Amino acid sequence: MLSLTMDKYWERKSLEEMNSEEWERLCDGCAKCCLHKLEDEDTGELYYAAVACKLLNLKSCQCSNYSNRFQTVPDCLKIRLDNPVVFTMLPESCAYRRIYEGKSLEPWHPLISKTDQSVHAHGISILGKAFSEDEIIPEEYEDYLITFEEK
Ligand code: SF4
Ligand code: SF4
Repeated sequence: MLSLTMDKYWERKSLEEMNSEEWERLCDGCAKCCLHKLEDEDTGELYYAAVACKLLNLKSCQCSNYSNRFQTVPDCLKIRLDNPVVFTMLPESCAYRRIYEGKSLEPWHPLISKTDQSVHAHGISILGKAFSEDEIIPEEYEDYLITFEEK
């Protein structure tokens, strides 16, 4: 018996070639990009703080106002091909960054695992690891630096 083969569009299409639905499905829902970032003024290196944007639902790792996110949060990262520097600001596990860098998706990515929960089950997302910016003052973000072991 023959089974249908899932169209692994991320393997045959570049980011430029993806349509809007394919582009959106590429997000693994880790919410790391929704964490505040601090930059080392000497080296330019970025560090993540375990302090999330106020619009992030910390229980689901979903944005609570995704369609209006740029109006509501001007600092929300715009992942666009005409702004290549944004890919360096994304975590190394981010699917957009990985495809941009010519890498494949990891087994825990929902497009591979077929479940949105795998990103949480494998500890890739920030579920249970972050506070809301409503709880922490900016002067204390430095006390909440977080690193990600996975690549
Ligand atoms: S870091 Fe990348 S994969 Fe994770 S939520 Fe942000 S855009 Fe999606
Ligand atoms: S506006 Fe939404 S997508 Fe943007 S950083 Fe905040 S929670 Fe994340």
